[in-house]
Amino acid sequence: MTAFCANLLTVQSLRRCRNGICRKNDILELDAALGDFQSSKETLPCPRCDGMGFSGQEKTMNTTLLSSHEDGLTLFAADLHELGARADAERRRRHGNQTYYVVNAHINPTNVCRIGCPLCAFAAKPNDKKAYVLEIDEIVHRAQRAVEFGATQLHLVSSVHPDKPYSWYRDILRVLHQTFPQLWLKAWTAVEIVAFAQSTGKSYEFILNDLQSVGLSSLPGGGAEIFDVEVRKKIAPNKIPAKIWLEVHRTAHKLGIPTNATMLFGHLETPKHRVEHLLKLRKLQEETGGFDCFVPLVFHPKNTQIDVVPISPQEILKTIAVCRLMLDNVEHMKAYWVTLGESLAQIALSYGADDIDGTVFEERIHHDAGSHTPFGLPESRLRELILGAKQSPVRI
Ligand code: SF4
Repeated sequence: MTAFCANLLTVQSLRRCRNGICRKNDILELDAALGDFQSSKETLPCPRCDGMGFSGQEKTMNTTLLSSHEDGLTLFAADLHELGARADAERRRRHGNQTYYVVNAHINPTNVCRIGCPLCAFAAKPNDKKAYVLEIDEIVHRAQRAVEFGATQLHLVSSVHPDKPYSWYRDILRVLHQTFPQLWLKAWTAVEIVAFAQSTGKSYEFILNDLQSVGLSSLPGGGAEIFDVEVRKKIAPNKIPAKIWLEVHRTAHKLGIPTNATMLFGHLETPKHRVEHLLKLRKLQEETGGFDCFVPLVFHPKNTQIDVVPISPQEILKTIAVCRLMLDNVEHMKAYWVTLGESLAQIALSYGADDIDGTVFEERIHHDAGSHTPFGLPESRLRELILGAKQSPVRI
């Protein structure tokens, strides 16, 4: 029987080693061995990561190196190029020359939201001209188009509609999963999960289990914004507090549902707030190991109520490099081209990022906030960007 890692997630989410150390080839081997896995329920340590994610020495080095506020602030004060070189070395240690991407599509079923965050350019009130709600047929139609383009993943994120019941959001997943069982469904942020729990009177665990039973594969990382209480009060006062966001992700991880984590930066926060945010994520990851990927999101102020000068490209790259070094227990780091722009995303691949996200057909949320990037990129362009960074594209 093929040996595989004891830290793998559930069979349903068996795509990557939980520690992310096993590379694509190992995973293919695992897929081939899935029958054995399901029948025996047996796991063996992965020969590469020894079921620990890192060899003993590397683990000690990585978990003691950059684990305090002071460490983080020292990194932010460092020279950009030195910092970038260090983050790049760390990225290469984990992933060699490989950069990952996915062929995916984003579907945002509605923009009508009752929360009202000053940072948001996407949401609308029910009577606004730009308010919309997609019928399930239309959502299926868009998913069909994505499948025809070769998509293997859908990213479904919405808003908190004042009238749509939990069953509406659930049905979207159920119908999509029934129609396209091959698609990985990354759906609903922690903000939405909390809204579902509130409207039904059920626990997060119940909701997540229930969504998993109708096709949920993983949770996106949205809604984390910045965890600091004071900054959060200004940019998203009515949004769930940090500890609830973390609790939803903790619950998902316990259920074997992998999730992403995000940090929105470039608004009212300072490096100190970014470091605090990263340390909270790092702590939860130590506890659960359930974050698959971290996505640093650049804030675009256009059409929002936050009046700031856009953050500089240097500060963006520095932040990405610090994220790579401080989140040593999260395996993947995205250069999300939608908010970075194509050129900066390409450069970020040399500042710690190992994943350029995906084709992202029809993204709306960041474009409403003034992102000038196209509404989706062909797979060939993603590969071109990765090859232009002198790295090897790996489709996941
Ligand atoms: S950020 Fe999300 S929760 Fe806040 S207003 Fe926009 S859609 Fe609603």
